[in-house]
Amino acid sequence: MGRLDGRVVIVTGAARGQGEQEARLFRAEGAQVVVADVLDDQGEAVAKEIGALYAHLDVGEEADWRAAVAAATSAYGRIDGLVNNAGILRFNTLADTPLDEFMQVVRVNQVGCFLGIKTVGAAIAAAGGGTIVNTASYTGLTGMAAIGAYTATKHAVLGLTRVAALELASAGVRVNAVCPGAIDTAMSNPAQLDPEADVAQASRSLDRFYRKLVPLGRIGRPEEVARLALFLTSDDSSYITGQPFVIDGGWLAGVSVV
Ligand code: NAD
Repeated sequence: MGRLDGRVVIVTGAARGQGEQEARLFRAEGAQVVVADVLDDQGEAVAKEIGALYAHLDVGEEADWRAAVAAATSAYGRIDGLVNNAGILRFNTLADTPLDEFMQVVRVNQVGCFLGIKTVGAAIAAAGGGTIVNTASYTGLTGMAAIGAYTATKHAVLGLTRVAALELASAGVRVNAVCPGAIDTAMSNPAQLDPEADVAQASRSLDRFYRKLVPLGRIGRPEEVARLALFLTSDDSSYITGQPFVIDGGWLAGVSVV
């Protein structure tokens, strides 16, 4: 018995990183999974390997969402889960951020989450209920210099999560958010995108860097976030909705002066 037997879940940004680990874990727990991304070759390879459906889905495009819902419904008859995971990060102080860059981050992280709730939320409600997990961030709850656009959108994701939880509860749809700290994916560890790089070495360097910042003394792993998303997608969290769940090795707990 898997914890997601009989469920049908769309995971966005599932070609790599946290989304890929969520897709793998959900499939292993019995769900039918739709791997959705703009990285078609990588996404198709992941989907093929785990026995999932691949959908090209740019989360900022409403028509792509409608097509993904149609493809999932046609393949599996219904949709009762969504992980809004796709996201992008850009580094700049607010003073140096071009408007185009700010809007690009808003389009993916914030509009993407909104369109997912709007489009898939309706399909989940029509199926009689289910779950939505939005991917916010540590920076959805606190500030971080030089990533202002990103931080603003992750705060917005928590606002969307709370409102969606209120609006969709009567339809049996629970909506929660994960708030990861630093996680060892291409977003925090660009060496993963460089075929020449020693990725294990880069991960060890990140562990050393985060030893000073994070009480648990290391960067997080995408598999750890996937396990939290599984909890929020499964019946184990049946009485929980509208909440942010921080998974950050204790980073947000405070600062230590000793
Ligand atoms: P990642 O860069 O490896 O993965 C992001 C995925 O999103 C990629 O597969 C990418 O192709 C996809 N994507 C980007 N734009 C898209 C679009 N318009 N439509 C569909 N897919 C798109 O990084 P990750 O760490 O796996 O990121 C997953 C989520 O976790 C993001 O929302 C990110 O903001 C969040 N997050 C990451 C960290 C971290 O330290 N890695 C920390 C907190 C939150």
